[in-house]
Amino acid sequence: MQPDRPGLHPGKENDLTAELRLKGAPASRGYAIGPAFLFKRDIISIDDRKIEPSETEEQKDKFKKSIEQSNKELIKISTITNQKLGEEFSAIFDAQVMMLFDPEVTRLIHREIDQNLLTAEAATEKAYNLQIDLLRAAATDPYLAQRMADLEDVKFRILRNLQRGKLLSHVEDSSVIVSDNLTPADMILFSRQNIVGIALDFGGLTSHVALIARSLNIPLVIGLHKISASVKNGDEIILDGIDGNVIARPTQPVLEKYLKKKEKFRKFIAIFETGISEPAVTLDGKKINVLANIEFRDEINDMQTCGAEGIGLYRTEHLFLSRGYFPSEDHQFKYYSSLFSQAKDWPVTIRAFDVGGDKVLESSFHEMNPFLGWRGIRIMLDRPDIFKNQIRAILRASVGRQVKLMFPMVHNLTQVHQIKDLMEEVYLELDRKEIPYQKVPVGVMIEVPSAVIMSEEIAREVEFFSLGTNDLTQYTLAVDRGNDIISSLYRELEPAVLRLINRTVLSGHQAGIPVSLCGELGSNILATPLLIGMGMDDISVVIRRVPEVKYLVKNLRMEDCIRLKDEILALGTVGEVEARLKSWLTEHLPQFAGYI
Ligand code: PEP
Ligand code: MG
Repeated sequence: MQPDRPGLHPGKENDLTAELRLKGAPASRGYAIGPAFLFKRDIISIDDRKIEPSETEEQKDKFKKSIEQSNKELIKISTITNQKLGEEFSAIFDAQVMMLFDPEVTRLIHREIDQNLLTAEAATEKAYNLQIDLLRAAATDPYLAQRMADLEDVKFRILRNLQRGKLLSHVEDSSVIVSDNLTPADMILFSRQNIVGIALDFGGLTSHVALIARSLNIPLVIGLHKISASVKNGDEIILDGIDGNVIARPTQPVLEKYLKKKEKFRKFIAIFETGISEPAVTLDGKKINVLANIEFRDEINDMQTCGAEGIGLYRTEHLFLSRGYFPSEDHQFKYYSSLFSQAKDWPVTIRAFDVGGDKVLESSFHEMNPFLGWRGIRIMLDRPDIFKNQIRAILRASVGRQVKLMFPMVHNLTQVHQIKDLMEEVYLELDRKEIPYQKVPVGVMIEVPSAVIMSEEIAREVEFFSLGTNDLTQYTLAVDRGNDIISSLYRELEPAVLRLINRTVLSGHQAGIPVSLCGELGSNILATPLLIGMGMDDISVVIRRVPEVKYLVKNLRMEDCIRLKDEILALGTVGEVEARLKSWLTEHLPQFAGYI
């Protein structure tokens, strides 16, 4: 079967009156229906005349004023972002402010004005393009691509201010924003208007824009390729952020169908939220902790309303990614202290930096196969300074808190021994300096097949396991989790993956340690009964999926799930597994029929 590639256009192209259907990638869940608000950046035409030598001071002054105005705007956006989403996101704009004042770029611009007699606009464009071109060479690296996008954004802002343009006009209520792409700053400004969804030609699933949309619960579909050229302002848009479909100018029957889907989705969400604060216990009394995966501290504000029973995975990479360098021990200590206090009595499993793979460490460092490269624990063990800084900060902040610590990407027992040795060194150093800290349970993520094979031995050395099924799937099937072309082969329900998961649970329980799962498989409710049947102790999912997983746990019987598990583990193909899980769920919980 051919993968369903984004950007296909079965509708009539360029006919701006007919119904148009586009397929993209769903980047933030939910349905939106509303008029299109077409957002196009002003095409800035640059004043490229040669100036008179007598004008140079005036041009430099113009540039200075535009920097001041841009700085004001960015500080405002950063403040709004900080209030809405917290420091991790506002750091994006703080980084842009730093770019604004880069002395090297300013020198270059002054030189172009003084020596080459360029206008401030032309000099700005030239100097920024130079920086952007330097990064373009490495643009396959998502971190650098993001920096390049930030530089473009800064350049555009300065140029717009040189020309005194205004960015956003009034957006009609309940609009669906349609654009080629958005910057994080556009996204924040739009989120202050009453918009219901966003459809983009480009964009990445892990871009800042996608992360912000998910955090703000605004449905988003990306990778639609031509949507901005194919709709007019005010066209009715249906945006399906579940399957990635966008329909412009729908016919009445299609509109009615989606209005029903949207209503059904809303009703299901309401059903899942009934009794949300009750603990997740199966009908026959087995407690399973349904926890939240948290990437940004402010998502903790939603823990109560989503009924999360703790944090099963706190990713710390953002501390690095939003800056481009590892923050100091003290900065991290303050950060973790406030994180743990914000998490109140909820247990928190915090993960050491999982940098590398698609989250690159050094701008000059490139690998042919980054997912098989210098990543996660491999970096931490090679760089004990980074390891110890983070661990000291976490242990110091853990005093009086319920914290567990886990390490990503462990692939053998030797690494477990190395981790334990380094932990001992950290304890000794803290003892010697009489710095207060708390020892916390230490576990490892099981996300590399060799770690599953060695899981009996590893289980005897650690205090818990957490299954990272996103990576376990990609490494077991040898299917790159970020590669569009083979995305149809990336199937978490492949029997090989399920057998490895089951084996991990058995090894953990044999050694008497709890086993959690924190990969995306946990959010696939088809898999919930299977995971319960395997005996998973915790299931940790993105925060907005907690209610449905919890609802499922509370409405199932452990003994039925065990029978299902035995049946599924005997199957040979992913197709059979999916079909059986679907039929089983519909038999046991018919009310789910319209949701799965
Ligand atoms: C995983 O691999 O399943 C996981 C939870 O970690 P990440 O997605 O951050 O690699
Ligand atoms: Mg992983």
